[in-house]
Amino acid sequence: MREYSIYIHIPFCVSKCIYCDFNSYANKEDKICEYIKSIINQIHNDNTFSKDDICKTIYIGGGTPSYINSKYIVQILKCIYGKYRVDKNAEITIEQNPCSMTKDKLKDYYDIGINRLSMGLQSTNNDLLKILARKHTYEEFLYKYELARSIGFNNINVDLMLALPNQTLENVKKDIQKIIHLQPEHISCYSLIIYENTPMYSLIKNKRYVLPSDDVERKMYYLVTNMLRDNGYNQYEISNFSKKNMESKHNLMCWNQYEYIGLGAGAHSFVDGVRFQNVDDLEQYIDSNKVIILEKMNNLELMNEFMILGMRLINGINSARFKQIYNQDMFEVFNSQISFLKNEGFIDIANNQIILTTKGIDYNNVICQQFI
Ligand code: SF4
Repeated sequence: MREYSIYIHIPFCVSKCIYCDFNSYANKEDKICEYIKSIINQIHNDNTFSKDDICKTIYIGGGTPSYINSKYIVQILKCIYGKYRVDKNAEITIEQNPCSMTKDKLKDYYDIGINRLSMGLQSTNNDLLKILARKHTYEEFLYKYELARSIGFNNINVDLMLALPNQTLENVKKDIQKIIHLQPEHISCYSLIIYENTPMYSLIKNKRYVLPSDDVERKMYYLVTNMLRDNGYNQYEISNFSKKNMESKHNLMCWNQYEYIGLGAGAHSFVDGVRFQNVDDLEQYIDSNKVIILEKMNNLELMNEFMILGMRLINGINSARFKQIYNQDMFEVFNSQISFLKNEGFIDIANNQIILTTKGIDYNNVICQQFI
């Protein structure tokens, strides 16, 4: 029996945020209906897993899944329930933008079995939200957060961002204080990455906005980790924090190299050591459902990837999982790399587990280079 995940990509957004490099589209509402039909089509044609295999997590991401009519989400999930064997305790997450969440949509999600919301807040400061061209305010987020709670959602993630233009340490402190007050089960906190093909890149290049220095960015990061730790959140991954037993199961499955199917434009799949990608372009996906094979990995490449993915986890790599997949001892296969990382102070080893040190968190890229 194989355990796997399903990712569903909904690429529509009300408008494009100026930092966004995701496969997402504004002003393509006329394509929504056809797009959903293509996802249903992909599900019907998919024979990757048998009924003996079990789907443990489903993640509906984007884009903005809350932007489209919830009847489409219900339709997709009904189709998935009919086609795949979904665990009765499966974690089913949907990403939400506060500006498009409504009571009726939330009720539909709840009734169809979605049990986790991931809300894209990014900042509690309305001036910073404007800089990012986000369409919601902090007050709107608060209202929608409470609405979701009133409907029964008891597993909510809040996304925050660090190193935003004009953002100060005081801004970050206020963000974390306000979010701790709300007590979401999970908090993700990523630093802004500037992509060349975005309006934000030009604005920074032309000095319209100034980014915090690397030093300040690190201070922000440690402010977040310390405040969350002191308030009952467990940092289980470099950028992810949760209440006890409320880690994202979907992310953990990806980081522990479980298989997954990607539905929708540009979505990736990983099955039998092969990585696939659906065609990126929205119209082409609708026309053809075309799938591109990205890479077929050999055993060593897969083991290296397992190490890179696992090195994001604060408690380190799951050596039992490594043994389960590869029938080899991780410490023997990667003896020289692990010794180097330990000698350089990037990792500690305790109870047969690799644990990232503070230095290892700061220099994760150096760690990853050992496995390329
Ligand atoms: S809502 Fe998300 S996916 Fe859509 S444009 Fe903004 S950042 Fe990109």
